[in-house]
Amino acid sequence: MHAKRLSYIDISGIRKMFELAKAKDVVNLALGEPDFPIPKEAKEEIIKSLKEDFTHYTSNKGIDELREKIARKLVKENKIKADKEEIIVTSGGSEGLHLAILAFAEKGSEVLIPNPGFVSYEPLVRLAEAKPVYYPCREENGFVPSVEEIENLITDKTSMIIINSPNNPTGAVYPRDFFKSLAEVLHGRDIIVLSDEVYEKIIYDTKHYSMARFYENTVTVNSFSKTFAMTGLRIGYVHAREELTEQMLKIHQYIQACASSLAQRAALKAMENAMYIEEVVSELRKRRNLMLDMLAEIGLDVVKPKGAFYMFPNFGGDDKKLVIKILKEAKVVLTPGSAFGSLGKGYVRFSYAASEEKILLGMERLKKFLKA
Ligand code: PLP
Repeated sequence: MHAKRLSYIDISGIRKMFELAKAKDVVNLALGEPDFPIPKEAKEEIIKSLKEDFTHYTSNKGIDELREKIARKLVKENKIKADKEEIIVTSGGSEGLHLAILAFAEKGSEVLIPNPGFVSYEPLVRLAEAKPVYYPCREENGFVPSVEEIENLITDKTSMIIINSPNNPTGAVYPRDFFKSLAEVLHGRDIIVLSDEVYEKIIYDTKHYSMARFYENTVTVNSFSKTFAMTGLRIGYVHAREELTEQMLKIHQYIQACASSLAQRAALKAMENAMYIEEVVSELRKRRNLMLDMLAEIGLDVVKPKGAFYMFPNFGGDDKKLVIKILKEAKVVLTPGSAFGSLGKGYVRFSYAASEEKILLGMERLKKFLKA
């Protein structure tokens, strides 16, 4: 027994792989989280706050100090006009996506989502009883979508466009021109852009741009999960102009009340530690290069990822069957590309958030498997 809207959605393909990956002797290259501990200061802050009994509700939007710090960061680093009243601290980026989609994707309207794209977009759009419409992110363009193709998909029914740079699953980072041109296309239209920027800090030799800098009807979703390896603490935020934030707050106050008090304090401390991010990115860059070298040895072409911690080579054929065969025979866990949409068919997502040792072992096993 269940509400009808649940018939539109299924358990995530990634979750299914997680279940299969529990065996001890497998190498997991399907991870969506870095294996680092959170910053030391953040850990100590949680212990301190716990001893102070900072375990009660906070204001719905989140503690003032954290929202002030986020607002200053958005102004300085993302070149967004931002005020603390325009920010809601959420339970991870996931809640932020849910708030934005529920608040602005009208029932029956169309929401443009990337294909391939992050697994949550389509089910969240369907739960809002809106219709997902897919725009392609093509390998020949480095997986950067074409603004022209997006424009051609816009109709009178379009309520929202979801974009994600740096991108999961492809590792693409979109150039300034993409955001500027999209803003020009949307000028004067009543369309919200949901910009998922949870990987903004995990970026190699390139620059991150925020859509809100170019287009005011943007909801920016961000998270502490990836930047500070805080996935289990469930902490993130949304930013939009105040009128939009107030709409999302209506939902947040009833479904969540507030983000975890301890996680909010931890996030505040983590934000003070720029060195941590530098070290993480430098380590991830090494892992990326190692995986690229090993894929080249195997003879697999792949678009060099500029951000996040994924790469997305094309094997051709049935990616789901292939990934299960690799798991059973080579004991390496990978994610089938079709979990990210129809254009992911034939592709496999590799995560290099695992340690160098695991990457080496996993890629050696894969090499042997493919030879055989
Ligand atoms: N957006 C993207 C593109 C992601 O890859 C993820 C996690 O994998 C999220 C959002 C949500 O992350 P969290 O809820 O942990 O902040």
